[in-house]
Amino acid sequence: MSAESPVRLSVVIPVYNEELNLPTLFARLYPVLDSIGRRYEVIFTNDGSQDRSIELLKAQHAARPDVTRVIDFNANYGQHMAIMAAFERVRGDVIVTLDADLQNPPEEIPKLLEQIAAGHDYVGGYRLNRRDSFFRKYASRLINFVRERTTSIEMRDQGCMLRAYTRPIIDAIVRSGAINTFIPALAYSFAGNPAEVGVKHEERHAGVSNYSFFSLIRLNFDLITGFSLAPLQYFTMFSGLCSVGSFLLVLYLAYRRIFLGAEAEGIFTLFGILFFLLSVAMVGIGLIGEYVGRTYQVVRARQRYFVKEILETKE
Ligand code: UDP
Ligand code: MG
Repeated sequence: MSAESPVRLSVVIPVYNEELNLPTLFARLYPVLDSIGRRYEVIFTNDGSQDRSIELLKAQHAARPDVTRVIDFNANYGQHMAIMAAFERVRGDVIVTLDADLQNPPEEIPKLLEQIAAGHDYVGGYRLNRRDSFFRKYASRLINFVRERTTSIEMRDQGCMLRAYTRPIIDAIVRSGAINTFIPALAYSFAGNPAEVGVKHEERHAGVSNYSFFSLIRLNFDLITGFSLAPLQYFTMFSGLCSVGSFLLVLYLAYRRIFLGAEAEGIFTLFGILFFLLSVAMVGIGLIGEYVGRTYQVVRARQRYFVKEILETKE
């Protein structure tokens, strides 16, 4: 393909301490992309790796400068920011995201492209025979369930990063300037005609998952708070119910106080008043939370990451 033809396909790969996987990834990914027969580019974001990942990426850029671009972050900003930085620079009109650990085989990329060719603007992969720990699998199911109830995002497998998007969706994601975001969900909210395909899943080729238990919780908290105010609203509703309940209790205690006289030396009356005031305070906190939440939604734009260096061939 001539260097003048426009880039048709961009593959975006976040890299954090993947020195053991990168050589195999290069060896498997490039032949697949070469065989598709479209002009492509691969954008790697080195997300502040502490191992030799950046040296390996630089070597790969030297070996295939025409199709390889490397963004080097100064520190670790997380997988989604790494993808975001690449999205801001993509040249292709179809964009594919892929993990560096080979859990989603690069050989599945053509499958996604078929769906794009069939007219879909967003193609999500879902993992067939998922190869993760028992705990991860069940945690995922629970999270999928909560997400479906609290946001209007319907995704079979939110954790699968092998996905393809058309350029307008990526442009919308970039314009949204989202921070702490969950890219597949954000993309879904912009998609007009999404599709899902089953993709193979393998065990991590080498190394260990970069997600600890706590970072998974944080990611999913981001997902829910980033896409809905449901937690706040549930809280407010719950406090509202408590208020109604304790108001009824106060009425009942007042009735007994007046018609039956003081019981347990007025302790019940005191409790009644206390519960009522407490639930009023809870509703108040919930309401403040609502406003803080809404404010938070509009003020999130701030410097999200810092790029140390970019290796690429200028167009
Ligand atoms: N990753 C990253 N920054 C991070 C954590 C992960 O760029 O802070 C990359 C990592 O190199 C891999 C992808 O994101 O390409 C998925 O990470 P991992 O395999 O650890 O997640 P899991 O498959 O366990 O969900
Ligand atoms: Mg992985």
